[in-house]
Amino acid sequence: MTFKEYLVSVKAMPIKRKSRGRSKGQKGRSGYVQCSMCGELVPRDKAKKATRRISLVDPVLARELRQKGAYLPARFDTKYYCISCAVHLGLVKVRAKEARKSRSRR
Ligand SMILES: [Zn+2]
Repeated sequence: MTFKEYLVSVKAMPIKRKSRGRSKGQKGRSGYVQCSMCGELVPRDKAKKATRRISLVDPVLARELRQKGAYLPARFDTKYYCISCAVHLGLVKVRAKEARKSRSRR
């Protein structure tokens, strides 16, 4: 095999996902984050990030206070999940071959 043929063959190599399962792009290495569920170290651009709004007040009381015009501060908690935990929680799903190429949100 000539070098040129080799380059063509490398380009034709199949990839499972358009993003190769990460949001890294052409960047080299990235830092690691720990999965909130199992503790596995995952590259930051591979981990699934889930942000939830946490109200410090009981929801029924919060609604009443909001009707009275009160401002209710809220905390946001951000968690990172490894892929297997994200699948387990239903954050991401196993998709068909063609659907995997799409990067649009659901
Ligand atoms: Zn995990």
